[in-house]
Amino acid sequence: MISTLKIPAQSQTLPGSEATMDPPAEMIRDGYKGADKLDGKVALITGGDSGIGRSVAIHFAREGADVAIVYLSETEDATDAKRLVEAEGRRCHLIEGDLSDADFCRRCIEETVDKLGGLNVLVNNAGTQCVSENLTELPDEQWRRMFEVNMHSQFYLAKAALPHLSEGDSIINTASINAYVGPDFLVDYSATKGAIVSFTRSLSNQVVGRGIRVNAVAPGPVWTPLQPATLGAHNPQWLEGFGEDTPMGRAGQPSELGPVFVFLASQDASFISGQTIHPNGGTIVNG
Ligand code: NAD
Ligand code: MG
Repeated sequence: MISTLKIPAQSQTLPGSEATMDPPAEMIRDGYKGADKLDGKVALITGGDSGIGRSVAIHFAREGADVAIVYLSETEDATDAKRLVEAEGRRCHLIEGDLSDADFCRRCIEETVDKLGGLNVLVNNAGTQCVSENLTELPDEQWRRMFEVNMHSQFYLAKAALPHLSEGDSIINTASINAYVGPDFLVDYSATKGAIVSFTRSLSNQVVGRGIRVNAVAPGPVWTPLQPATLGAHNPQWLEGFGEDTPMGRAGQPSELGPVFVFLASQDASFISGQTIHPNGGTIVNG
């Protein structure tokens, strides 16, 4: 049982740091037993240095996968994530760079295949957000950059990954509850996440006949560096009590997200494609 997180007011600057989270986040719950669900697979996880992506990397490693992690610039967090993956007895390859660059996205796929011997699971998880309460003041450049980082990168990575994927492999895209509830201060971010849900559906229909499954995860509030580095940077008080408005009355831990990605990547989800799963603390959303 996860106890209620008490989150105080705080802020960070983007891209945020796992090491300075108050309180520290939980990445994998005590006693989580691997069952070789991803034995011998190779996964590429964007944003795997911290937060949800780091939890996915550790869970995948415990389930038998080698992982490549893409991160923007958080070398300390990425090095910690690599150490945690290697502690599970699996290989970890780190790739630093900006996923808004299509060439860099292609290099991420090539490097993963070269260094780890193939690719079976692409986890499109990197993302950013920025508070803006008035559309008429939202800079055009912010709108474009939001789509480049959150959405276009998923297209470039999936496009480069698909030639390497075969029957039983999968793509998992991180969307957000905000695609469904539409907060008034995250219009650009929410639009990218809605696009990711539709991208997931349509791409699934295109490749599912080849035995490649494509799904999305739409987290509710989860305790990761993204939140102090964006909501907290806007107003540190916004972080106080973060997530307490969910039906469960608390934010989620990354440790509650990793297993969802394991499920979708594994044969346990062999009849599931084009879907979005909602680990969000009990909020009912349609779709
Ligand atoms: P996080 O800050 O730990 O992870 C996001 C990662 O994205 C960063 O570690 C960073 O390295 C990477 N990234 C950002 N911009 C990048 C760029 N231009 N190029 C390469 N990498 C880049 O935060 P998180 O909350 O774990 O975020 C993971 C995903 O979960 C994001 O897509 C986010 O939108 C989504 N999400 C988070 C929440 C939440 O409450 N934390 C809720 C819903 C959805
Ligand atoms: Mg990070």
